[in-house]
Amino acid sequence: MPDEAETTAVPHRRRPKPDILAIDNRRLQPETLMMGHGFDPALSEGSLKPPIFLTSTFVFENAAAGKRFFEGITGKRPGGAEGLVYSRFNGPNQEILEDRLGVWEDAEDALVFSSGMSAIATVMLALVQPGDVIVHSAPLYAATETLIGRILGRFGVKWVDFPAGATREEIDAKVEEARKLGRVSLIYLESPANPTNALVDVEAVKGSRDAAFPHEKPPIVIDNTFLGPLWSKPLQQGADLVLYSLTKYAGGHSDLVAGGAVGGKTLINTIRMMRNTIGTITDPNTAWMLLRSLETLELRMSRAGENAAKVCEFFRGHEKVESVGYLGFLEPGSRQRDIYDRHCTGAGSTFSLYLKGGEAESFRFLDALKIAKLAVSLGGTETLASHPAGMTHLSVPQERKDALKIGDNLVRISVGVENADDLIADFNQALRAI
Ligand SMILES: *Cc1c(COP(=O)(O)O)cnc(C)c1O
Repeated sequence: MPDEAETTAVPHRRRPKPDILAIDNRRLQPETLMMGHGFDPALSEGSLKPPIFLTSTFVFENAAAGKRFFEGITGKRPGGAEGLVYSRFNGPNQEILEDRLGVWEDAEDALVFSSGMSAIATVMLALVQPGDVIVHSAPLYAATETLIGRILGRFGVKWVDFPAGATREEIDAKVEEARKLGRVSLIYLESPANPTNALVDVEAVKGSRDAAFPHEKPPIVIDNTFLGPLWSKPLQQGADLVLYSLTKYAGGHSDLVAGGAVGGKTLINTIRMMRNTIGTITDPNTAWMLLRSLETLELRMSRAGENAAKVCEFFRGHEKVESVGYLGFLEPGSRQRDIYDRHCTGAGSTFSLYLKGGEAESFRFLDALKIAKLAVSLGGTETLASHPAGMTHLSVPQERKDALKIGDNLVRISVGVENADDLIADFNQALRAI
């Protein structure tokens, strides 16, 4: 038997000290747990922060341990490997990150990926077979629509969509339509939809799914990039798996690309097997950067949310603004407001600004900005502005653009953590420049 000092010197994530999740009867909150959960400094020379484990493979203590770990990797035993094996499967930085990501939504388990799209693609490859039908809300992130329609479509996968704001009755009708086409293996949602900001009623989707499929229930998977993990926790409304582009609010500094998934153990294990096979795990360096990001997630998102509320209030009263598509302005008594009240704890910091005019006015506004940067993406510390009709949604056919209200006068804004009054001064002078 190796003595204890030798054992703990192995760069291997054993946890002699269990994580502290509560003090007396008080459950610790995610923002507290982000500073230490899942990492014991004693295993890493007392280092306060986790080192970045740059290694492609891990040394087994003995052959039996190696065999046991591989039983986890290959799915002979559920739950993933009990130890570290090979960096395409797992690693200390990724595992600490997964533990912490899961905390925000009280999820049983979590996985991290090399990008939001690789998370989405891995989930779909794991769950969907040729001939199956995907039921999804619309619109979706453009690359997700491409993945379903043009890539999975090549393998005979079919899809049926419903508008993001659909009622229970409308969802029921689409689920029925899908059932006639083949085996429904996935219900895929994105809320709020981009750029309409329409919220999906996850509770209604779950009601519909449970009524239509009393036995083998297709999982409800939702892309929660815009509001999660702070303002929306869809596992609580009945989603089975929540997906993230961690590139956005979770990463939060516009300096990395990554993805995540949180949910129940059984579903996560199925997806883990696919990730192990195709190698869509994130790298240790990016995982480390995300650990840093998660320490300030609550601070950043709260500040960005407060800023957006002030900025939207300013825009709402301005003579050059036609309207503001912001979740904080949903009409009391409306169906969208009802979904918001049931599902969300904050309105986010990404919204749609409809200017009076067209492309020329939008471009003059965008080109005049001095603080806000002209770039696509969202959820960073800095405020970004873009023109969907001419950029992210350029290749969307005109009739679909019209249906989604993606006009030439639409500007998408993601508010960051700057001083709100500085931002308002910037937007004010840019509106003057129109
Ligand atoms: C950015 C984004 C994605 C894709 O994420 P990547 O990290 O760029 O791969 C997926 N869904 C939504 C809603 C996004 O905003």
